[in-house]
Amino acid sequence: MSTDKLVYLDHNATTRIAPEVIESMLPCLTNHWGNPSSAYSLAIEPARLIEEARESAARLIGSDKRHIVFTSCGTESNNTAIQGALTANPTKRHVVTTAVEHSANIKFCQHLEKSGYEVTFLPVDLDGAIDFCDLQSAIRKDTAIVSIMWANNETGVLFPIEEIAAICRSNGVLFHTDAVQVAGKLPIDVKNLGVDFLSLSAHKLRAPKGIGLLYIKSGVSFYPYIIGGGQERGLRGGTENVANIVAFGKAAELALSNIETENTQVRSLRDRLEKGIFQSIGGAIRNGGEPRLPNTSNIGFQGIEAEAALLLLDREGICASSGSACTTGSIEPSHVLQAMGVPAARSKGSLRFSLGIENTERDIDFLLKKLPAIVERLRDSSPET
Ligand code: PLP
Repeated sequence: MSTDKLVYLDHNATTRIAPEVIESMLPCLTNHWGNPSSAYSLAIEPARLIEEARESAARLIGSDKRHIVFTSCGTESNNTAIQGALTANPTKRHVVTTAVEHSANIKFCQHLEKSGYEVTFLPVDLDGAIDFCDLQSAIRKDTAIVSIMWANNETGVLFPIEEIAAICRSNGVLFHTDAVQVAGKLPIDVKNLGVDFLSLSAHKLRAPKGIGLLYIKSGVSFYPYIIGGGQERGLRGGTENVANIVAFGKAAELALSNIETENTQVRSLRDRLEKGIFQSIGGAIRNGGEPRLPNTSNIGFQGIEAEAALLLLDREGICASSGSACTTGSIEPSHVLQAMGVPAARSKGSLRFSLGIENTERDIDFLLKKLPAIVERLRDSSPET
């Protein structure tokens, strides 16, 4: 199926690979296919390309390149930060996180609970915000790590990471943030943030799926999660995915140069979308408060099933989402909206629109032309109305 005519409004799920990124990968798949750890000259260029990409990725987050470890995805980065902190501090068996994290964290923490660790899932309010007092009182002497996402993938709501990092620091506890949805949308400077660990995933940045990174602050106690060869300075075993790492580097460069556009053009398209929806569809309510990402809008439509709306939108060539892609297809209500206390009737009719720099006013106007009739049709056929 041609994707040229798609109106793609699901950039928090994944992004289309940028042509410059594909271009940057090709030499790694053709000429520079050697194993970067080998001793002969075929290894020199792949090894150099990895280091060049590490520098670009480090620049995106204001880090020194020595503190970047490439991983296979954002999920691995999150799992690694938490497990690494627990293994490095064996007497500490408690983790603090929130009830609205991505399943890469929630499910891993539930797995930890089954393995005998204790986890506190902090609650959020209707805006999606946490209470600092809850965080302060959740931290215990045996807390190994606090892991709190920066931007929520479903609502775009931002947690105040600098303040959270300061609370963790004053309690002597390690702090990890999942910044997967922030990269490329807002500036990141790990030194100002004061985090110990930070996760990114390149497929949210116009690079391929299957490549992520973990920033590890100098001097923090950490133990590798994937153990094997001495790759990534012994911090992550496994022969490097050179082409994907190079793609990440290129995508990081592009993302850095596009942050301004995300915050002007993309933000104004998102605002146009919301204004249009609220003007044309009654009973539509935004889920989540401010501050939030410039590209994300999560809206509840009373009296419809989100999955049915997605199917009808898809028939029109419009891609949106009912929450995180990893839970699409499940009829369970979104754990994020549930934790926020969004009423079930609104939650089950909630759609997420997440925009990117390739979107145009025409895309938004096309959605605004199609969506009101879809919502009306579903409301008319709903047994509840
Ligand atoms: N964290 C957040 C906030 C995400 O949105 C995602 C992906 O949707 C992930 C982690 C997982 O990243 P990956 O798909 O690279 O494993």
